[in-house]
Amino acid sequence: MLTVLDSINLSTEYLKNKGIESPRINAELILAHILKLKRLDLYLSFDRPLKEDEIVLYRQFLKRRSEFEPLQYILGTVNFFGLDFKISPAVLIPRPETELLAEEIINEFKDQEFIKILDIGTGSGNIAITLAKFLPNSIIIATDISVEAIAIAVENAKSNGVSDKIIFAVNDIFSSENLTENNFDVIVSNPPYITSQDFKNLSKELKDYEPKAALTDSSNGLSFYDIISSKCNIYLKKGGKLFFELGYGHSENVQEIMKKNHFISISVKKDYQNIDRIIRGEFL
Ligand code: GLN
Repeated sequence: MLTVLDSINLSTEYLKNKGIESPRINAELILAHILKLKRLDLYLSFDRPLKEDEIVLYRQFLKRRSEFEPLQYILGTVNFFGLDFKISPAVLIPRPETELLAEEIINEFKDQEFIKILDIGTGSGNIAITLAKFLPNSIIIATDISVEAIAIAVENAKSNGVSDKIIFAVNDIFSSENLTENNFDVIVSNPPYITSQDFKNLSKELKDYEPKAALTDSSNGLSFYDIISSKCNIYLKKGGKLFFELGYGHSENVQEIMKKNHFISISVKKDYQNIDRIIRGEFL
């Protein structure tokens, strides 16, 4: 008979030997997911024996994790800004830094009567859905080049109860075909900003599992900042605001790109690691 505690100990050892960081937390989170418990509630169930089907599933999930598949894809959901998002390898795993981006916009516009927002590269829909939820007077258009990503974002909007506030569209920002909507008050994007050089050195978890097109522009990491800033004259109102998440080391370059494209009052906010992370500007 294998108890919860035995299996956590064994699998911690297994993941540790495979080189997985924080093996115990990984082992506990996977088991908690299978048993439909909160992680800390495992501690109240240490003596509970595992059923055969639970053991089979646990082994499968541990094997996937040992091959460096991100925990979030194995569990299939992520919490972002207190909301639950379904994810798959078709979408970038939402990151805590990106919560800062959503938070900035919510703080700036929470008292505004009506606000029309464009989210470019929506992925799982995490930014668009969070904004729809916390800015009740908003209407949002969310685009992505990936049909699979849009399908997941649509599901997430439904499960979070904001389907009526977001229009999702498959769109390539680099194509010459324009969106039918314009006159946005806000444009937001967390673009693929990793340089082709840095991409080579990413961890296995990112490089082998997350969608490459969501991570890197396969160039200098600035192409999306460039194209989005330059298309603001089509999509953004005069006086409208542009918000980006910044990749490491891009702060000055992106400030230059925004200035060149007629943005003023540009400001940058750091993340918890003291790295320039969010940039915003006002369109002249
Ligand atoms: N908008 C999503 C996020 O911020 C996806 C971004 C992306 O795919 N680059 O997590």
